[in-house]
Amino acid sequence: MVGSGPNGLAAALTLARAGLAVQVLEGAGTPGGGCRTEELTLPGFRHDVCSAVHPLAAASPFFTGTGLAAGGVKLLTPKVAFAHPLDGGRAGAVAGSVAETASSLGTDSGAYRRLMEPLVRDADRILSTFLGPLRSVPAHPLSVGRFGLEGLSSATRLVRRFATEEARAIFAGTSAHSCLPMDAPLTGAYGMMFTIIAHSVGWPLVEGGSARLTEALVAELEALGGQVITGQWVSRLADLPPARVTLLDVTPRQLLRVAGDRLPPRYARALRRFRYGPGICKVDWALDGPVPWAADAAREAGTVHLGGTFAEVASAEADVAAGRHPERPFCLVAQPGVVDPSRAPEDKHTLWGYCHVPAGSTVDMTARIEAQVERFAPGFRDLVIARSTRTAAEVERHNPNHVGGDITGGAGTLRQTLFRPVARWNQYRTGLPGVYLCSSSTPPGGGVHGMCGAWAARTALADLRRWP
Ligand SMILES: Cc1cc2nc3c(=O)[nH]c(=O)nc-3n(C[C@H](O)[C@H](O)[C@H](O)COP(=O)(O)OP(=O)(O)OC[C@H]3O[C@@H](n4cnc5c(N)ncnc54)[C@H](O)[C@@H]3O)c2cc1C
Repeated sequence: MVGSGPNGLAAALTLARAGLAVQVLEGAGTPGGGCRTEELTLPGFRHDVCSAVHPLAAASPFFTGTGLAAGGVKLLTPKVAFAHPLDGGRAGAVAGSVAETASSLGTDSGAYRRLMEPLVRDADRILSTFLGPLRSVPAHPLSVGRFGLEGLSSATRLVRRFATEEARAIFAGTSAHSCLPMDAPLTGAYGMMFTIIAHSVGWPLVEGGSARLTEALVAELEALGGQVITGQWVSRLADLPPARVTLLDVTPRQLLRVAGDRLPPRYARALRRFRYGPGICKVDWALDGPVPWAADAAREAGTVHLGGTFAEVASAEADVAAGRHPERPFCLVAQPGVVDPSRAPEDKHTLWGYCHVPAGSTVDMTARIEAQVERFAPGFRDLVIARSTRTAAEVERHNPNHVGGDITGGAGTLRQTLFRPVARWNQYRTGLPGVYLCSSSTPPGGGVHGMCGAWAARTALADLRRWP
């Protein structure tokens, strides 16, 4: 196994549970990839270096089947899954059931219920399809079809049914997780999927930080006899110790680098056409107190989407897609202190946030991100004790899987959702016997859910049974 991100560890565990002897080689000094926690600002302030909010882990069959509680992992679910403040102290927010959320949406109450109630009723069926390898005929075509009909279209189209900025804001923020312009196909699916999860399992954070997820996976792997060796960058497939199967938690560009000369030429050509998405600029803050959001809902939310109205978010994301740095960026912010006092010394808080930027950007967006926080939480700047910033270029230096600062393992376009990384029946096989790709550049794509790794390992196990 090369790489110990959530997908690498999910793959390693799936193989180890099947009785294989597993060795994981990780280039970084600690395991976890996009799932680590460090004191990035000051001693005692524990910041999630990458992932912080875990709706996908909470919904993932791999994680729910892993016995996280037994491994000491506690998922803490905020009362408000996410809030999206608007000027004037208003906010769109998702909390509790569809009916509870709808009751906060005034004239859009009925439209919200009509959209979300059938989807949340079918949450298990929809999520199991979209966390699957996406190539099989859906087991529940009616539920998935209803989702697909709405979701194939853009967020811009999806929100046309709403009259209030609050309801439109809910889908602005969730759709923008796609890192695509709001008028791109499938952005509606991102919006609906994250909202379905908010209503069904919530948007939890991990007590103590995301690294606890990694520690639990590594502990189970080691208990099964597996081994994780850190500080070992693999630059050529030929340098790996002999193994019956090799799984690579890397993206297409790195696969070409480590194995390019051995890959079938047609497959290598297709990999070269793989497209990465925009980057991110991330800031972590140590704060003297909780963020003084003007909107009540934002004070209780684990995640806060910043950017104002749907039109403003759409304009910011369009700027990024066109290679510009938006003056008023769309920002994703997580405030672990809402549920987890262990992240900072007494009465202090941590804050985590990022905005989208053009791929490879070296621009420090701290001032623009802070201006967006201050806009909806006057007095925020006075609370900042320390901060740590990573530009998109630095995000890639920290983890080569984040090509150009892209944190999703490749653009989530319609084409690359259906065919990820290339158009073939099984997208985990590489054309090299015994070598598999298992990162978020394979289905079902980005996020901490471990399902790319779990599905890749199942392919490897099936091949081993067929050709032992
Ligand atoms: C700033 C940021 C915020 C995020 N927020 C969230 C969030 O809140 N919720 C969420 O669900 N997801 C979030 N994500 C996305 C999530 O972290 C990723 O989708 C996920 O980690 C992908 O897992 P992976 O195993 O495919 O790859 P990674 O986690 O990137 O792991 C790949 C590992 O392979 C190692 N590696 C790569 N090449 C080599 C090599 N040649 N030799 C040895 N080792 C190698 C890397 O060092 C790394 O440890 C965020 C990501 C970032 C960066």
